[in-house]
Amino acid sequence: MLKHNLGYPRMGSRRQLKKACEQYWQGLIGRSDLFLTAKRLQEEHWKIQQDAGMDLIPCNDFSFYDQVLDMSLLLGAVPDRYAPVVTEVGGNAEIDLYFAMARGFQQQGLDITAMEMTKWFDTNYHYIVPEFTADQQFRLFSNKVFNAFDAARHFTGVIPKPVLIGPVSYLLLGKEKGSGFHRIALLNRLLPVYIEILQKLREQGAVWVQLDEPFLATDLTEAEKEAYVQAYREIARQTKGLKLIVATYFEGLRENTALAANLPVCCLHIDLTRAPQQLDAVLQAMPPKTSLSLGVVDGRNIWKNDYDTSLSFIRKAVAALGEERVMIAPGCSLLHSPADLSLETELDPEMISWMAFARQKLQEVQALDLIFQGNMALLEANRAAISSRRGSSRIHKPEVKQRTAAITDAGVARQSAFPQRQQLQADRFRLPLFPTTTIGSFPQTDDIRQLRAQLRKGAITQEAYDEKIAEATASAIRWQEKIGLDVLVHGEFERNDMVEYFGELLDGFTFTRNGWVQSYGSRCVKPPVIYGDVSRPEDMTVKWTKYAQSLTSLPMKAMLTGPVTILQWSFVRDDQPRSLTASQIALAIRDEVAALEQAGIGIIQIDEPAVREGLPLRKEDREPYLDWAIRAFRISASVVRDDTQIHTHMCYSEFNDIIRHIAAMDADVITIETSRSQMELLEAFADFRYPNEIGPGVYDIHSPRIPTRAEMFSLLQKAAERLPVRNLWVNPDCGLKTRKWPETEAALANMVDAAREARAGISDLVKV
Ligand code: GLN
Ligand code: ZN
Repeated sequence: MLKHNLGYPRMGSRRQLKKACEQYWQGLIGRSDLFLTAKRLQEEHWKIQQDAGMDLIPCNDFSFYDQVLDMSLLLGAVPDRYAPVVTEVGGNAEIDLYFAMARGFQQQGLDITAMEMTKWFDTNYHYIVPEFTADQQFRLFSNKVFNAFDAARHFTGVIPKPVLIGPVSYLLLGKEKGSGFHRIALLNRLLPVYIEILQKLREQGAVWVQLDEPFLATDLTEAEKEAYVQAYREIARQTKGLKLIVATYFEGLRENTALAANLPVCCLHIDLTRAPQQLDAVLQAMPPKTSLSLGVVDGRNIWKNDYDTSLSFIRKAVAALGEERVMIAPGCSLLHSPADLSLETELDPEMISWMAFARQKLQEVQALDLIFQGNMALLEANRAAISSRRGSSRIHKPEVKQRTAAITDAGVARQSAFPQRQQLQADRFRLPLFPTTTIGSFPQTDDIRQLRAQLRKGAITQEAYDEKIAEATASAIRWQEKIGLDVLVHGEFERNDMVEYFGELLDGFTFTRNGWVQSYGSRCVKPPVIYGDVSRPEDMTVKWTKYAQSLTSLPMKAMLTGPVTILQWSFVRDDQPRSLTASQIALAIRDEVAALEQAGIGIIQIDEPAVREGLPLRKEDREPYLDWAIRAFRISASVVRDDTQIHTHMCYSEFNDIIRHIAAMDADVITIETSRSQMELLEAFADFRYPNEIGPGVYDIHSPRIPTRAEMFSLLQKAAERLPVRNLWVNPDCGLKTRKWPETEAALANMVDAAREARAGISDLVKV
């Protein structure tokens, strides 16, 4: 049985690549230092993989920014606007062109925008979207894959396995610039370049090549299916002698099983961690000579593999195909796992015994092979770890389980329907038309960040820290009153991060020191780990919210993070359905909502920016997901009286296809991001006749630019043309924590002016 790996995290266990790239961008180090860091990291990672007994070691999985952008450069899909960069930076500075495509180019009198970025399937990794024109040409442009092959071979002494994104997935990942064509029609022009690359690799001595085709595990049109058949027929015909692995992951093949199994390649890889149920159908569909690579170790989570489960898959596949036709690997690239568990010296040893990061995951692949050969000691040790986790009293809280099981339909609905609530809330808060508010956070200055760092190091006391946070909060409130906002916020100065803050206060969560995962470019996130039943031992936000409310007679809006967002941005336990974990978090948030109401807070916002990104890849799975996700929100929100106003906030996502579910959340007010699309996003709400109140963002918070009163007024006008004026709120697109104070003050003052103008000109706004 060959053991292989689909890709290794490239950041480095101490985020060396992040640091090197950022220093390079700032001009603090030169190109050769950057390349040296990259070389050392790749070598370190190749060694780890070799030490873990991998028979095929990937190369070209390393990337300075993103593997899809690497493909665009390899295939010469460089948008025309970068032409001046090519001449400007001169001959051998491919890397500067590359970073210009990723980050834009504002130098030497040029101002060229970056390429668009979007989420990689249902992960939190973001890739750079290829841009295609109708007359798009492709050509072999970059030598990175060939250099990587030579370097890996030289360093490891064995023949490495180059990794590329397959041609059909590459096209599908991109976006058409201009109309009148579909990118899949570019296949004929693209294929010759792929073939040239593969032939060149063969000449260099490559034997195995991995082509990632994750779209095979998604819903495909007939034309896309046909593209797969055509592409691989052509590739197979012209690259004889190469052993091609087509890798699928993140979902099962389902109706594409026969299509994928019959591609004329040497090996098909399937992800059994995401879709174990596909194994039988795939085994049945396998043609006589093709090998099957079993993705048995979860590449997207941090839990230790359950060897018994993996072995049952391996045994079944070996029985059906014979050992020489079975390979084993992690389910997907380990890009989505943190690097190395052995750096987690502060985690509790019991917890460590339940986990595996990238390095350990490869050891698991190796162990599975050894156990398959008869090493029972390894299996026994794994069984002990798995059963210790399964039975641990740290994980299982009977009272939490009982409470989740006891949630009734009445427990997920507000007392009265929205129209009645709206009246009661109007009577209580007496807000003007076009009430103004913000999304929660105010600028997190270096002072505040340093304060938190000092507290963590023990350099200042909790009291000293609290005092400073109180000062920042008080001054934010004075300032909001001064500029005339209607519903105030406390500013979230006490929060490091909107998920981490709650995770630290909830039971069932733990945190790693170095569990970083690449999000985009040099940006990494360190998701909390939800290991056990979630409960809320004490109030989480009441103290600061009450304090803030005590300083003003205006309504103070409390800020909470919603259950789906907490779930989505964490490593989630894999021993129970995600829906159940969501309900447990929802109950904890519900208790906080109740405590806030008890403390006299009348307006409570439950942020759910991540609802949309949790949407399953397959259409048929979306309804069930949305059902439980929306229910989780409603569990959190529905505990309050009718005259308590629940807000929610969502941003940076398409709403069209989920608008029905957003309405079903039944928040009294939703604030969304709309300013960049000039209110286009509002269309979904207008078409649907969204019944509740809504605050379409009028201020794009992603730029230091200060929007004028006039432009925000014109956005309000557009909103008023689409939705009932009595339902409209005025607010920025999102939280302001990444902004600086001066621009924030100026922008919000303009926003308040725009709202006042809207109120004054109300009759002009309402279309009769
Ligand atoms: N309340 C949060 C903030 O203002 C919301 C952030 C978000 O939507 N991502 O920072
Ligand atoms: Zn937001």
